[in-house]
Amino acid sequence: MAADEVERLKEWVRELSPRRVLVQAPPGLIDVARDVSRILEGMGVEVFFSGGMCWGGCDLALREALELGCDAIVHVGHAEFVRSHSIPVFYLEHRYQNYGPVASLLPEILRALRGYGRVALGATVQYLDLLERLAEDLRRAGHVVLMGEPSNHLRHRGQVLGCDYSTMTSLDKDVDAHLVLGSVFHGLGLALITEKEVFAADPHSQKLVALREMAERVLRKRYAQILAFKSSRKVGVLVSVKPGQMYLGLARWLVGLLRSRGYDAELVVVDEIRPEDLEGRYEALVNTACPRLSVEDQERFRVPVLLPNEVLVALNVIGWEELLRRGLLSSYPQSWVMTVLTERPRP
Ligand code: SF4
Repeated sequence: MAADEVERLKEWVRELSPRRVLVQAPPGLIDVARDVSRILEGMGVEVFFSGGMCWGGCDLALREALELGCDAIVHVGHAEFVRSHSIPVFYLEHRYQNYGPVASLLPEILRALRGYGRVALGATVQYLDLLERLAEDLRRAGHVVLMGEPSNHLRHRGQVLGCDYSTMTSLDKDVDAHLVLGSVFHGLGLALITEKEVFAADPHSQKLVALREMAERVLRKRYAQILAFKSSRKVGVLVSVKPGQMYLGLARWLVGLLRSRGYDAELVVVDEIRPEDLEGRYEALVNTACPRLSVEDQERFRVPVLLPNEVLVALNVIGWEELLRRGLLSSYPQSWVMTVLTERPRP
């Protein structure tokens, strides 16, 4: 942990004086979570570790913390996502400072970007402190490099999430290609909502991947799932209890819409969404939780797992081309879907 992060954490503890804190971290950052625990215990705080998956800043373990009488949560590895919560939350982002792995990927990045003069640059939160230096290296090689300001769920300049690329899509018209410093997962999400080429440069795996073709394949598969949905009747509309993934109003509204179109739809409350828990109960599912589940995990399900906007295509409220224009992924599906519906007569 960086010294300034340690000091910020200690200052937070001194101000808040919590008695018991739940520490939450993705599996890969358990050592950082243990460092946090040592600091907290050294200041007289009782520490519990969350054993859950911790998929993102959306996945705050608020219910567990309250059940266990914790006064606060320390959430490791993600930037703030949920803005209001019932107990204080300290987000410890844990950013990498070592530029070495980026520098060793640089020749490959420059080769890939040949012919793309103007480039939008973004990164997942752990690489944000390396972005400015990478931008400088790209500029020295003759590129114009742009980084977008945060909006929606994003908190930092150039930051991306698997469900929110507004820092980069806001620059889409001004650039020839996008470069995401992060995993293929993060690059692919962007490639699904832009027609420009997207490169993911992953300092951890030392791989650079172009994602346009992969995204086209994923979109074709999504369309096939929409067609399959049309012949289903028994539909489960999933609503998540994860604080940053809960769209209850949207889920209720979708149940009503589907019933009005002759589907036998019901609302299903979920935490982790696993095929084995839902198998055999529905002919199709609608996913109002993390949108990446429908993209990454569809093949684990035997039934279509549509996103709310894909349901609009299945019901002929909008066409597939319009969905592509508006973007498959949305960090605010409620506003996306409702905007579509207020722009045209209610189906
Ligand atoms: S992509 Fe999914 S897990 Fe990641 S922040 Fe968005 S909702 Fe959460």
